[in-house]
Amino acid sequence: MLLLDKESALAAVALEKTRLPPAAEGCVPCAFARHGYGAEFVIGGDAEFVVVLDRFGYREGHLLVAPRRHIERSSALAEDEYLALQRWVHRAMRAVDAQFEPPRIFVAELGSAEPLATGTSFPHVHIHVVPIHMRGEEARPAQVFSWTSGIVAYRPEEAVALVAALRARLASAGC
Ligand SMILES: [Zn+2]
Repeated sequence: MLLLDKESALAAVALEKTRLPPAAEGCVPCAFARHGYGAEFVIGGDAEFVVVLDRFGYREGHLLVAPRRHIERSSALAEDEYLALQRWVHRAMRAVDAQFEPPRIFVAELGSAEPLATGTSFPHVHIHVVPIHMRGEEARPAQVFSWTSGIVAYRPEEAVALVAALRARLASAGC
């Protein structure tokens, strides 16, 4: 596992954005949810929702849950769609719990329908499921949800192993 400082992480994200399929129109969740981009990071999902390992995570095992269609506000989802989204969040939490047995899991919706100058977010609705492996100061939300504390990335073989493990966990988490 690699810990990137903020500058390196921003550069890596900017590079990734140049590799998105044109059909995604610059939207990272659209790219992995509907255009096959980063399929090696997809943990599971169904026709409506997708769960992926965030390749630039706040912590090891950080997952994202997103609707496949491009929608910019959760409040624009019908109630049953939102509950279906949260069902996948719950499954993702169970998968993360089973995989890491972390002291805590943070769940957060942080996206912005308006573009951010930092380039660290995207408007497509997505929910973060973040296992918190440590205790104390490093487990404070302000520390976790900040690029200034560093971003986790994976070597290719690490990503393959973790995705395979989490796929198995998620497959058994929905029952
Ligand atoms: Zn999108």
